[in-house]
Amino acid sequence: SQQILLASRPSGEPTQQDFRFESTALPEPQEGEVLLGVKYLSLDPYMRGRMSAAKSYAAPVEVGDVMEGGTVAEVLSSKSDSLSEGDLVLSYSGWQSHAVEKASAVRKLDDNGLSPSTALGVLGMPGFTAYAGLLELGKPKPGETVVVAAASGPVGSAVGQIARLKGARAVGIAGGPEKCRYVKEELGFDEVVDHRDPDFEANLAAATPDGIDVYFENVGGHVWDAVFPRLNTFARVPVCGRIAHYNDTSAPEGPDKLPRFFSDVLSKSLTIRGFIQTEFVPTMFADFRRDMSAWVRSGEVKYREDVVKGLDNAPDAFIGMLKGKNFGKLVIEV
Ligand code: NDP
Repeated sequence: SQQILLASRPSGEPTQQDFRFESTALPEPQEGEVLLGVKYLSLDPYMRGRMSAAKSYAAPVEVGDVMEGGTVAEVLSSKSDSLSEGDLVLSYSGWQSHAVEKASAVRKLDDNGLSPSTALGVLGMPGFTAYAGLLELGKPKPGETVVVAAASGPVGSAVGQIARLKGARAVGIAGGPEKCRYVKEELGFDEVVDHRDPDFEANLAAATPDGIDVYFENVGGHVWDAVFPRLNTFARVPVCGRIAHYNDTSAPEGPDKLPRFFSDVLSKSLTIRGFIQTEFVPTMFADFRRDMSAWVRSGEVKYREDVVKGLDNAPDAFIGMLKGKNFGKLVIEV
């Protein structure tokens, strides 16, 4: 069995040296357990947080432990009545080729005609994050303007498409002409703005002539700076991620922006609400599965996967994602 362990805690951008490869003997399942062969490993931005010892909403991966992550795996042998050899399951087996899990800790996947990897993307955690954060916290109304960055990725692409299904106007922000073309022409966002363009701020203003009613915050950084002054009175900001800052090692240079931030929160009656998607699983996951499966089947929600072959390539692909090198939901085909 192949494993990728956390070798050291990165300072700033992770490097290859922060990961270590190991081979071990295949683990043996006990009563109630299954041996899994991992087929797809999901790579997600939150893993940067797990590499760090800084206090967060979840415990970090310990140095020397296998990197955590969502996986789609095949049951290779079963000592449980509920799963049989050949079943495909959603598990949280991490960056490794094989794992033993309790049968009760995994979810059997039905054949829905799509690639099983969609259970890690549009029909899984990132799709759910978009659905719950936008509908429960963003509450877009018909005719309102919804803005989201990382718009070609699994969360952002779903946010914009669901916003349109609810009658809102969707404006995406993405890095580079290729991603921008995809967001507007294939995903059908009303407008798209390239945050790498030197005229980004002016272009965002032109794309949001009536201001911004919902900003689904995925990135922070210079994108947030351009968005913030355009928020309308009573705007809602579900704070989902701040990927531009995950590799930060110090506070940014420049003037303290906090006083201006709070005076606008007050004078514009803004709602800024952070969330971790697990909060909404008990109340919204069943609705999500029903709605999202229907939208994907009908073609109303489109998705794109960036499939990288080989577990060995996971560290590079992950490091690249934090800089926008992925194009669509990043998964490793193990
Ligand atoms: P993506 O696959 O979209 O990957 C991240 C993208 O972020 C990159 O491709 C890049 O897109 C963009 N990006 C990276 N750095 C910057 C930067 N400095 N400025 C602007 N954009 C940048 O990721 P996901 O869809 O999986 O996740 C999106 C966000 O949602 C992340 O912040 C993640 O942490 C968060 N999240 C939060 C959850 C929660 O429960 N709160 C659950 C799941 C995800 P581009 O090239 O277009 O700029």
